[in-house]
Amino acid sequence: MKNKGRVLIVGAGITGTALAALLEQKGIIPDVVERMPNWSKTGFGITVMPVGLEVLRKLELITKVRSQGHSAESLRVLTPNGNLVRQFHIKKDGIDSITMDRADLHAALRAKLSRTHIQKGKTIEILDHKENTVEVTFTDGEKKEYDIIIGSDGVHSLTRRMILPKSHEEYSGAAVWTFFLPKGIELETYADVQQVWSNREFMGLFPGSDHVAVTFSAPLDQSIDLDHYDLDKHFDDVGVLSHEIFSKMKSEEMFSGFLNEMKLGTWYQDRVILAGDAAHAMMPATGMGASMGMRDAYVLAELIGQIEPEEWHRVGPVYQNARKRVVDRVQKDAHVMGHLMLWGSPLKEIRNEVLKWIPQFVVTHSIKNQ
Ligand SMILES: Cc1cc2nc3c(=O)[nH]c(=O)nc-3n(C[C@H](O)[C@H](O)[C@H](O)COP(=O)(O)OP(=O)(O)OC[C@H]3O[C@@H](n4cnc5c(N)ncnc54)[C@H](O)[C@@H]3O)c2cc1C
Repeated sequence: MKNKGRVLIVGAGITGTALAALLEQKGIIPDVVERMPNWSKTGFGITVMPVGLEVLRKLELITKVRSQGHSAESLRVLTPNGNLVRQFHIKKDGIDSITMDRADLHAALRAKLSRTHIQKGKTIEILDHKENTVEVTFTDGEKKEYDIIIGSDGVHSLTRRMILPKSHEEYSGAAVWTFFLPKGIELETYADVQQVWSNREFMGLFPGSDHVAVTFSAPLDQSIDLDHYDLDKHFDDVGVLSHEIFSKMKSEEMFSGFLNEMKLGTWYQDRVILAGDAAHAMMPATGMGASMGMRDAYVLAELIGQIEPEEWHRVGPVYQNARKRVVDRVQKDAHVMGHLMLWGSPLKEIRNEVLKWIPQFVVTHSIKNQ
């Protein structure tokens, strides 16, 4: 019988779960370990861009996610008092996107796993590189050999620290708070994404199917306690709507964090390979992180399916060659856009003038052409 190979996926987020589902389609059933003992019920809004939708199409999930999300017609950049700076007609430009609850996207991916069992509350402890395999010792004491290991364990990846101990996340300089719009707040329009690029402050409203995801962001020192931060005061000049949002908001429904980026020279060591945020966490300004993770998963599944397990030491270099140049560019664009959104006076006035005239493709090319 043909040896299908032993695959371990570390981290069952969007990237790891998509990879497991794509491998299952090829008859390869991976072992999957996930550090969290339970799935989080509080989600946040996530936009899947064309490159991510393509992967969901391969997984026959497109109808499901369309029914759970909303596809924006345009992106409107506004001043704090609601005046339109610029409207980007993203859909007319061929950018099909779906904004939905991350928890729903994750559940849809998990529902595709019929034979793969995700072992929750468990992770890796030691990776021992043998001649043609890697022996893994897990936190529950189990030991097992694998032909390939994919570290899709997010921005703070333990797998990455094990194979590239000198790598470290870089703080992007910005903090973020995100949640769903409390009931009772009406918007002028639900068709479009609306963003206020204020004075070193950002507010974005991203309509989903039955709720609107809200994101606030600002440059902030990492020593600040985000959970007890006076958001209403800080985002005072982001627009009148922000006061209404904060007055109705409960802090336990909010996700907050400092945005980190991960820039690596290499994404693998021998048979241990990094994917998604573990390899290339980026600022969420262009909404590309999850889509890029799913695309990584697709490329990896194709390579693992095509190459014989004895040769899986070749997967890392081929995957990196196929993906890294594109991802580096997308990550850089997200960084530039993320900081542009947070410019303060006097640069913000210049930015707003430029925004009025800039060709649309300058803003949308990073999302469109992958
Ligand atoms: C506020 C915000 C808004 C965003 N908006 C968007 C958006 O609109 N569109 C978009 O595409 N992207 C967006 N992103 C980025 C997106 O969320 C990430 O790029 C995406 O979730 C990466 O998926 P991942 O599976 O690689 O990592 P993660 O989703 O972080 O998953 C990693 C998984 O690994 C697990 N794990 C961690 N450590 C271990 C360990 N040692 N062992 C085992 N398991 C482990 C974690 O519990 C988790 O389940 C946003 C991010 C933020 C913070």
